[in-house]
Amino acid sequence: MSVYDYDVIVVGAGPAGTTAARYAAAGGAKVLVLEKDRDVGYPVRCGEAVSHEGVAQFIAPDPKWIASTVTKFRLVAPNGSSVLPKLDGGGYVLERRIFDYELAKLAANAGAEVITKAYVYDLLRENGTVTGVRALIKDQKRDIRAKIIIAADGVESRVGKWAGMDTTCHIRDMESCAQMTLSGIDVEEDVLDFYFGDNVSPGGYLWVFPKGKDTANVGLGLSVDQAKKKSAIRYLHEFVERKYPKAAMLTHIAGGVPCAKTNPEIVKGNVILVGDAAHQVNPVSGGGIISGMIGGMIGGQVAAEAVQSGDMKHLREYDKRWHKRLGWRHDIFYNIRNAIGGFDDRTYNNICDSALKLPVEKRTLGGIFRAALWNQPSMILDVAKVFVA
Ligand SMILES: Cc1cc2nc3c(=O)[nH]c(=O)nc-3n(C[C@H](O)[C@H](O)[C@H](O)COP(=O)(O)OP(=O)(O)OC[C@H]3O[C@@H](n4cnc5c(N)ncnc54)[C@H](O)[C@@H]3O)c2cc1C
Repeated sequence: MSVYDYDVIVVGAGPAGTTAARYAAAGGAKVLVLEKDRDVGYPVRCGEAVSHEGVAQFIAPDPKWIASTVTKFRLVAPNGSSVLPKLDGGGYVLERRIFDYELAKLAANAGAEVITKAYVYDLLRENGTVTGVRALIKDQKRDIRAKIIIAADGVESRVGKWAGMDTTCHIRDMESCAQMTLSGIDVEEDVLDFYFGDNVSPGGYLWVFPKGKDTANVGLGLSVDQAKKKSAIRYLHEFVERKYPKAAMLTHIAGGVPCAKTNPEIVKGNVILVGDAAHQVNPVSGGGIISGMIGGMIGGQVAAEAVQSGDMKHLREYDKRWHKRLGWRHDIFYNIRNAIGGFDDRTYNNICDSALKLPVEKRTLGGIFRAALWNQPSMILDVAKVFVA
């Protein structure tokens, strides 16, 4: 009989990985998390916005990782008119380098071991079965054996591919993003701003997420096809020069977001994918922190159950539970994203005008969404499915 070092190895200590580790350890599994970077939570490649409802199911909101508490969002149309609805339930702009660190502490408190500067470069195999990982830990090569591998290695996941899963995100579904953290600017601390239109982000949106009164994450996402014509970073520079010419640029990042349906395969043998590695991002918003944590939680729970029962076939439950909880919604959001991606400037202007005609108390996300539907009746069927099912 094989001797294993761990029940579960989690590759990657982003929000999905540490949440998977936390729930696997809480379920009684012996868990190791391997993170290639020197520090958990750094570098940050994220706009850092989350809803209160999403985050509070995992961790009590704490000022030490909250840069701003937001209560409203503003949609700015291409013609400059804007509407400022309330954000139901509110939300936060995080300090992810502290937030991710706190999530790792929760995993450690549940009993997981976390090692940084630990790069996983391959899977271990015996008789065709994955039996662990090969890692470079603080420059030393080590083979570590485990019953289950959870791949939480982000958008550029390689672990899934090594296990034989096709994790390629189709180019049409990949958003090319660029973001700067700007300081010395005037922002409303409790408002998330979204700009639309061909001039700022054709087929996508530009965000200004406040981090206090004078600092914000300013970024945008474009489909890769659009970005081929003009890059996300060029759109961003042009916007910043127009809107915040005197800003100090504190950080500058680029990255991809898989705005796709969940990867067709997220379980293969004893390897499962969670978070961006599994394409668990909300395809409309591009937000993947909370949905990745939900994927991680379900993955960790199912992994612990499989360890307890000794039946690795039980891991297939993860796919079922993910789709029942969120995957089915993402399928529908994906269709909505494709419809929104086709909106032209006139449609955005019309939606904003219709929203402004609503009584103030009806200017909610739902009210504006209904205005959008009025402009794009083909979306109605897809949206109806979200609420009816
Ligand atoms: C510009 C931008 C803005 C965004 N804004 C938002 C936002 O406002 N709100 C939101 O909800 N989402 C946002 N997202 C998406 C969000 O950042 C991701 O969905 C989220 O970080 C996914 O979490 P994860 O744990 O799956 O992956 P990640 O956070 O990417 O973590 C993966 C981890 O795996 C590690 N790793 C990778 N390969 C290996 C290896 N071989 N060995 C060991 N470790 C490895 C990496 O170092 C990393 O720490 C944004 C993304 C981008 C690019």
